[in-house]
Amino acid sequence: MQMDGDESSNIEDRRGEGGGFGGGGFGGGGFPIPMGGGGGGLFKGGIGLVAFVVIAMIMGADPGAILSDIAGGGTSSYAPAPPSSSASRTPGTPAPAGDAETQFVSRVLKSTEDVWHEIFQGMGRQYRDPKLVLFRDATRTQCGVGQAAMGPFYCPADQRVYLDLGFFDELARRFRAPGQFPQAYVIAHEIGHHVQNQLGISAKVQQMQQSMSKRDANALSVRVELQADCFAGVWANRADRQRGGRMIDDKDVDQALAAATAIGDDALQRQSQGRVVPDSFTHGTSAQRSRWFRRGLDTGDPRQCDTFRAQQL
Ligand SMILES: [Zn+2]
Repeated sequence: MQMDGDESSNIEDRRGEGGGFGGGGFGGGGFPIPMGGGGGGLFKGGIGLVAFVVIAMIMGADPGAILSDIAGGGTSSYAPAPPSSSASRTPGTPAPAGDAETQFVSRVLKSTEDVWHEIFQGMGRQYRDPKLVLFRDATRTQCGVGQAAMGPFYCPADQRVYLDLGFFDELARRFRAPGQFPQAYVIAHEIGHHVQNQLGISAKVQQMQQSMSKRDANALSVRVELQADCFAGVWANRADRQRGGRMIDDKDVDQALAAATAIGDDALQRQSQGRVVPDSFTHGTSAQRSRWFRRGLDTGDPRQCDTFRAQQL
């Protein structure tokens, strides 16, 4: 992958503050329930604690699902670890500021800004840039405390994408999805949630989920996630076009599809509990994730990303 171009001015680097706040936790309960969670208790009962934590480690395990689950009560078995003790990450993985990795993230972010500004303009709307927060271990968000173990996530309440760069190592090693393009895909997926937020989709979904069964709310969450995958594909298409087709090649696409496959809910559940429980899917199967990403990538047209109307995911 060739990611050239300008860097974004919307990176917020909090890596120097790692674990520097105490007390934390999810106290107060005043944070709004972000998307994905809906009626709360997404993972309640259905999946055990182990799977819950594993799923939290996946990309796109947006705090919506996680935090609202906790906020919804009834999951007292899951006590969020205090930030200082969340040292599950391999030490030494995050890179210092100004390094190549940060520069890469910043360029990808800028590129998503360019692409979505263009698309929103075409719709007669205005795209508001989100911030991307780099952090280590744990950081405060308006959706509660964000932990590195959750994987990258988007908080609709403060319109920020949160990313611990250590996740990229995990992507390469644990999920066997090396290469830069899968990293860009992860970022673009989170930006996809911001786009959904801007378009009012997140609020609508959240509202609908309030009055749904857990099963239906989960099914709706899958559509939200697959749409974010499709939006990531739209970004890749447009960004590549803006660079005269020099940004990605077939190998990059294969790698990203492999990433989408590796982090599908079914693949993860097989890894974590040895069987697949479709009702508890909140991100879509491996096949669905690659299909929707591919659709966005092939068309570059966000209107092709209407996962809510699709009969077949
Ligand atoms: Zn997601």
